Amino acid sequence: MAEKVSGDFRLTYATMYDPPEALHQEYEAALEAVRGAMGAEHAMIIDGQEVQAAQKFEDRSPINQEWVLGSFQSGTEEDAHRALEAAQRAKPSWAQMPWKERVATMRRAAGQIDARVYEIAAVISLEVGKNRMEALADIAEAADLIRYACDQMESNDGFVVRMGEDPLKEYQARNISVLRPYGVWVVISPFNFPAALTGGPAGAALVAGNTVVMKPATDTPWTVRLLAECFRDAGLPDGAFNYVTGPGSTLGEALVNSPLVDGITFTGSFEVGMSIYRTFANGRYPRPIILEMGGKNPSLITRNADLDRAVSGVLRSAFGLQGQKCSANSRIYVDEEIYGEFVPKLIEAAQDLRVGDPTDRAVFMGPVINRGAYQDFKDYSEELSKAGEFLTGGKVVTEGDLDKGFFCEPTIVAHVKTDHRLWQHEMFLPVTMVHSFQTLDQAIELANSSSYGLTAGFYGSDEEADWFFENIEAGVTYANRPQGATTGAWPGFQPFGGWKGSGSSGKNAGGHYYLQLYMHEQVHTLIK
Ligand code: NAP
Repeated sequence: MAEKVSGDFRLTYATMYDPPEALHQEYEAALEAVRGAMGAEHAMIIDGQEVQAAQKFEDRSPINQEWVLGSFQSGTEEDAHRALEAAQRAKPSWAQMPWKERVATMRRAAGQIDARVYEIAAVISLEVGKNRMEALADIAEAADLIRYACDQMESNDGFVVRMGEDPLKEYQARNISVLRPYGVWVVISPFNFPAALTGGPAGAALVAGNTVVMKPATDTPWTVRLLAECFRDAGLPDGAFNYVTGPGSTLGEALVNSPLVDGITFTGSFEVGMSIYRTFANGRYPRPIILEMGGKNPSLITRNADLDRAVSGVLRSAFGLQGQKCSANSRIYVDEEIYGEFVPKLIEAAQDLRVGDPTDRAVFMGPVINRGAYQDFKDYSEELSKAGEFLTGGKVVTEGDLDKGFFCEPTIVAHVKTDHRLWQHEMFLPVTMVHSFQTLDQAIELANSSSYGLTAGFYGSDEEADWFFENIEAGVTYANRPQGATTGAWPGFQPFGGWKGSGSSGKNAGGHYYLQLYMHEQVHTLIK
């Protein structure tokens, strides 16, 4: 678990919900320092070198567009190629390094992250607009995902398995199965979890013995630059981890199109993921690609539910990180018996949520990520005002300085027909839709009527919960959980991944079967 922090306190999945005062003080001190470092120019890191590009782009905060966080390199196709070549050169020595040494190096990388956990969390707050606990969780999870991959390598003894011996007369056979790295791995991450969804896949790829070229989202290059520094400072050899920045449509495409790539992990939208999937299939032969994509996550609330738990769980999952989680609870199906009791409670709780500068301790909801998302919120609100009824929200928030950022009200919509397109489409905003059901069969049919299958939540009796687990089509499922109806992931606790249009591998990150995705099997038969 994540070791850091002041005194005897360890920031972990268990302690995150009830942190001591010292955590707040450390975060605030780090925030002050990070604000002082705003505006600097940051290079890419290729082959251990700081690399500039001719063009730069500005990274501005969604909290206040006047805050220039930094200036970053608009990497080109050439930079993509250079980074892949560096990763190719570093490949043999990193792959052949005894796995225990690799694990030791990666544990040092996790330690580097621990040492900078507050600084990076403060950057995440400014860059993504996450509240402090969400920001700390993102970076602490990055370190834990790396450690979990190390643990898996150790507990599987490097994935070297002695197999049966051929029953040959006069010969002695030795058969060994070994999992070995593929080579050069490209990691493309989304804006919403820039730390965990960079550190997790890159960490697993590296622990497995691959070298990595990493491209962050254009909205979050700073967080990932700091992670790249953690890898560098842990003593990874030059070229083992390369950090390139620039647009997905040019630099990202160049990475995906290159024959120098042996595998990809992409986390992001369904549309971009599927296009990368198809492009990557045009190579000379099949190569592994792990896609983690969107969600349209349902919760079901039956007449046997504890309604207070359901309100708390739905609220956190619908509006945590402003609804910009792949696991956000965007569809709420409520038993008609308790609809009239549940919905007013949910509205009241949503109206109590504080929207504002997320670095302020009392604020739960910060801004949405950028101007495009802000405009989307206005457009969806317009569409929903015609298709249904706002129970609360529907407007942007512009009081005081908030008009300098992208703030939106938590929004709940009812009476939208179940065949409306927005029951299917991932809005990725603080907008959720509620609908009643008459029978559980009807509820599960509605819940499963999506191309996505990422997460799902349930509130009801234990017997009903077992039925739900059996019948729901999703990779991560939760029942009767007040901490989140459809959100919550942690290595070793809730491994995270999706079914159907939400993911390609069928195995969840931070779980027992994930690290193996980064290696192919080789069997050694030696006849003596
Ligand atoms: P996005 O627009 O799909 O972008 C994701 C990444 O892909 C970014 O780094 C982006 O770079 C890059 N990219 C865009 N076009 C590309 C191309 N043609 N070739 C190569 N790379 C390209 O997603 P997002 O808005 O950052 O993130 C939100 C989405 O991620 C949501 O759909 C959410 O559900 C999903 N998500 C899924 C999971 C999961 O575990 N299943 C977790 C988190 C988020 P630029 O920023 O430069 O365009």
